[in-house]
Amino acid sequence: MRFLLFGLSLALFFTVTSSSARDRTLIHCGKLVDVEAGEVRGEATIVVVSNRIEAVSSGHDRPRSGDRVVDLRNATVLPGLMDMHVHLQSFFGPERYVERFQLNPEDLALHAAHHARLTLRAGFTTVRDLGGEQVVALRNAIAKGIAEGPRIIAAGRSVAITGGHADQSNGMRRDLQGDPGPAEGVINGPDDARKAVRQRYKEGADVIKITATGGVLSVAKDGFRPQFTQAEVDAIVEAARDLGLSTAAHAHGPEGMKRAVLAGIGSIEHGTMMTEEVMDLMRERGTWYVPTLSAGRYTEEKAKVPGYYPAVVAQKALAVSPMMMGTFSQALKRGVKIAFGTDAGVFPHGENAKEFLYLVEGGMTPMAAIQSATVEAAKLLGQERELGAIKPGMLADIIAVEGDPVADVVALQKVVFVMKNGAVFAGP
Ligand SMILES: [Zn+2]
Repeated sequence: MRFLLFGLSLALFFTVTSSSARDRTLIHCGKLVDVEAGEVRGEATIVVVSNRIEAVSSGHDRPRSGDRVVDLRNATVLPGLMDMHVHLQSFFGPERYVERFQLNPEDLALHAAHHARLTLRAGFTTVRDLGGEQVVALRNAIAKGIAEGPRIIAAGRSVAITGGHADQSNGMRRDLQGDPGPAEGVINGPDDARKAVRQRYKEGADVIKITATGGVLSVAKDGFRPQFTQAEVDAIVEAARDLGLSTAAHAHGPEGMKRAVLAGIGSIEHGTMMTEEVMDLMRERGTWYVPTLSAGRYTEEKAKVPGYYPAVVAQKALAVSPMMMGTFSQALKRGVKIAFGTDAGVFPHGENAKEFLYLVEGGMTPMAAIQSATVEAAKLLGQERELGAIKPGMLADIIAVEGDPVADVVALQKVVFVMKNGAVFAGP
């Protein structure tokens, strides 16, 4: 037995060393989107060694013996897409309001794993998951290579106030509501706020997600009012900063947004009723805006289906989408930093690329929309040295689509090749 184990580990050792030392993959591209220069190049070859890009050259390089060649001569190649706002654990259909009483954590984890696979196959090689306690474990499993999915930056449970958007006991019978407390992400006062952040840190979160205002899909009347005092948001951001965690705030109304921006929050999610005052404040402070137009569109459409959402939710959903689009166009003109994010989970996972269409509808050029999901998203994460572009030294996150996505962003909905971290998950 011992001998067998020794032999096995020896074999593993050789596979690992030989693949990292010699395995070269040449990717022959028909076209290559250079997201940093903002232009589309003609024929090119990308050389991938192990999990990194070693070289990029024009034309199609001849392979050396032992090289693997990926033929994408009929496709347009671009960096793996990055979605800064997903919920891999959830899908918010009509059954969701009952399912929370039926599903166990292990059910949710398996759902999350399925959604992660769909997301990766749709060309999204990195996602930021903003709320879902199972996702920290999923992130680790994917990083280990025992589950299939995008690279994940995970928030774990969101932080909210009692009765706030991310208070999971909203809408329940009184005896089931209880008093969740900071461990469950429900805080009241700065001390609770710090405790909730530290609890997330202990559980392995990368980013702290707060619900700075009401939200659309929670069973609560208001979707727009502020939900933390200034002192509470300040405490959250400060505690996160001390522990090296980034922060993101769900926000629909301007007062909650303003408090979060003043506290130094990293990004404003949704931003539905963002005023010019808030936009200017965000520009000044370098706060990112993640528009999630897909969420607005989908919930507006479904709110018209009788019984799809509870009445209190449908009412809010109908109001939000048109406002989101108007705000997006205005923030774009005003020069607020924008990163791509969809709120996948509110709509079916794997349909993330529809967002490109809405961004272009709202006034973004197709190239800027692609940049928001690559270089810009990488900057939001502070990982622009490794992610978001195809050039030597970057991690090999590479996808391809048929047609020309810069002429028509619908092409991004048909991904024909996916490589993440040097491994191929879809395509030739
Ligand atoms: Zn969300």
